[in-house]
Amino acid sequence: MHRPLRLTIDSSALVHNWRWLADRAGVPAGAAIKADAYGLGARETMRALHGAGCRDFFVSVWPEAEELGAVPGDASLVVLHGVGPDDVEAALASTARPVLNSVEQVSRWKQAAPGRVCDVMIDTGMNRLGLRPDEIAALNGLSIDTLHSHLACADEDHDLNAAQLQRFREVAAQVPAKRYSLANSAGTCIGPDYSFDLVRPGLALYGGIPRQEAEGQIQQVAHIEAQIVQRRTIRAGESCGYGATFVADADTEAAILNIGYADGYLRGFSSKGTAFAGEFALPVLGRVSMDLIAVRCDATPDIREGEWVEIDYDLPTASEASGLSQYELLTTLGSRFERRWP
Ligand SMILES: *Cc1c(COP(=O)(O)O)cnc(C)c1O
Repeated sequence: MHRPLRLTIDSSALVHNWRWLADRAGVPAGAAIKADAYGLGARETMRALHGAGCRDFFVSVWPEAEELGAVPGDASLVVLHGVGPDDVEAALASTARPVLNSVEQVSRWKQAAPGRVCDVMIDTGMNRLGLRPDEIAALNGLSIDTLHSHLACADEDHDLNAAQLQRFREVAAQVPAKRYSLANSAGTCIGPDYSFDLVRPGLALYGGIPRQEAEGQIQQVAHIEAQIVQRRTIRAGESCGYGATFVADADTEAAILNIGYADGYLRGFSSKGTAFAGEFALPVLGRVSMDLIAVRCDATPDIREGEWVEIDYDLPTASEASGLSQYELLTTLGSRFERRWP
């Protein structure tokens, strides 16, 4: 059935971004495809990046691994949240590999799957997931593919970056593993000291700019278009939308578009977002509704019902306009989009 809202994924931009990150790192780059590849489609993302040479894929939880289905034989799928008390059965049945995050998870895995290969997360200062450096004795006897840590502030120039790097080097020197990995997208941008043997970008694959080093290098991947439901004239002195927050000071041409906060176009875009009809910028008028927005279209007198306009979804720009993070902009995109991988 026809859908009045489209999300088009530019797979050549996706591949370009992955290659840029791998070049920047100087080591192989994996791909974080958790949360359905940040809302764009995990299976298609895996297929496109595997075709380009990516061999390491990361999801958060076991149902994500299961929903992905078969993973190419020369690639590995890794489950970041590891093996909790309710995950043992799923983990044993899966070809994916867990990242063990605590002493409890380590002993659970040793018991459930003695000798079976796993990854391990070390907490070097974020205090989210991972064993503390003083708990590494628990790792004796494990067969570790990749030893990970994760940066808390890589998108800023923060003292914690160098401190985490130093702690991870110390742990890496003591814990035998096939590979070591520290950097997400932002960490990959900081510089090759952070690369180790494998980087784990997510956001920047999908067009996010985590740090200035990526500006002008990373290309937009997600493009959103909405169809016009109706065109109308808002007369001088009249308002438009909930709360009557927009009041026309002169007769104003408006196009009402098929997108709203239920689609992830959240209310932060009220009076701040922009759509494009060709080269014409059409600013959002008043509040975003659940399923609709109004945009000013005085500049395009001919545009009408049924035509498509592109919503400005350049992630840094849209983040600035809406107050949402670049991550939230992607992961909140709803289920009413026709997701297209042309
Ligand atoms: C999500 C995640 C990544 C990817 O992070 P980005 O900031 O999106 O590049 C890498 N490593 C871990 C452990 C993660 O949870």
